[in-house]
Amino acid sequence: MTVKLKFCGGTQEVSGSNHLITTEKSKVLLDAGLFHGRRKEFYNINSSFSYNPFDIDAMVLSHVHIDHSGNIPTLVKRGFRSKIYATSATKTLSRLMLLDSGKIQEEDAKFLNKQHSRKNIPAVKPLYTKKDAEFCMRFFRSVFYRRRIKIAKNINLTFFDAGHILGSALSRLEIKDGSRVIKIGYIVDLGRANLPLLNPPECVSGLDYMIIESTYGNRLHRPITEAKSQMTEAITKTINRGGKVIIPSFAMERTQEVLCFISELMKEGKVRKDLPIYLDSPLAIDVTDVFKRHQIFLNPETRHSFLEGAGPFALKNIKYIRKIKESKQLNKDSQPMIIIAGSGMCESGRILHHLRNNIEDSKNMILVVGYMAKNTLGRKLVEGYKKVRIYGEEYNLNAEVAVNNAFSGHADKDALIDYVMKSDGDLKKVFVVHGDEDQSFELVKRLKERGMDAWSPSKDEEVEL
Ligand SMILES: [Zn+2]
Ligand SMILES: [Zn+2]
Repeated sequence: MTVKLKFCGGTQEVSGSNHLITTEKSKVLLDAGLFHGRRKEFYNINSSFSYNPFDIDAMVLSHVHIDHSGNIPTLVKRGFRSKIYATSATKTLSRLMLLDSGKIQEEDAKFLNKQHSRKNIPAVKPLYTKKDAEFCMRFFRSVFYRRRIKIAKNINLTFFDAGHILGSALSRLEIKDGSRVIKIGYIVDLGRANLPLLNPPECVSGLDYMIIESTYGNRLHRPITEAKSQMTEAITKTINRGGKVIIPSFAMERTQEVLCFISELMKEGKVRKDLPIYLDSPLAIDVTDVFKRHQIFLNPETRHSFLEGAGPFALKNIKYIRKIKESKQLNKDSQPMIIIAGSGMCESGRILHHLRNNIEDSKNMILVVGYMAKNTLGRKLVEGYKKVRIYGEEYNLNAEVAVNNAFSGHADKDALIDYVMKSDGDLKKVFVVHGDEDQSFELVKRLKERGMDAWSPSKDEEVEL
């Protein structure tokens, strides 16, 4: 009898996590993430599967990040009809994030079709729509941490806290194969100790095989406490010279961490208490609301702050902006303030009009708190371009740009090695996924140096366990 593990996506690269466990009695998927790439590649890779989605008996969803959950609507469109197991926070967040992703796919197709119609090229269809995303929500089932449940005839699942984003889970799968039981750990994505809102990652014990991420397989982070001190410096400096602090931020987790730090800085008297803060993103406001409703997933200090008062997101001077009209009104207000808006990499969304309005004034500060991918406007700001294009027009970059590198929700290379080496089972092999080639290969090398059998599989490679 055999148990097979196929790495269908998210190998030697970060996006598109998707792995398939095949046993004699069942087939189970781990994640169905969107692959990010150039338009044509994006459509082709995300819409083809190397298995029949209809044959799958269950899916385990580690967390809501789009590179793990974003291709679920396509999978369902292609016939997947089984249960999707996730924590309750992931389930709630999935609705927000997948509907938003559906909206982005629709808008992108609309934009392309406008160009195509001028050139007489046939129209394209979106990868999936908001309606497709809504439909797949019926397959979600909530699972508690540390409770073993049966997800297929011969497979049990237990979730543990990953400490990566709200509701994120590490999985232990116990597979009965004849007289033996194989235990696989899905350690993707692995969080970090001391993040402002979450508990540290839990140890998943007794494993035979481990699949582990390697986003930072060859990099070290600055301590998270530095993120807070760098923020104090950037905010104080800008406010003292009468400028605005513009923070491009991802709606999920990073925005809430930034709000939490600002709230602490005000309590500690390091930032003046009446400074206006605008959270200018309906999606980020909705996500923040999920944090308030799922406090059980937060660390004891944050839960305590909700018990004591209204929690870290309820400062009197935080204004939540949903209406676009109110968002644009901020352009007319010249007083010092903090504006948090998306998209995180400055490719779309309300951050664009804030940048256009503030980028040419040297009093202002653009505070970068997240990863900026190549070829994005955000990356150009980080690289210190003198001129940048926004809405098709050129602007001088006179505002100061500060890059805060200490924020990250991922374990770094030392923490990854440490996690594997502390595993108390009889680990036979470690599969290194979810990292660019150089990061994955380096982690494999370092694990091998410590006597561990490690391997970085390539896309669609299948191994027998
Ligand atoms: Zn993630
Ligand atoms: Zn990820």
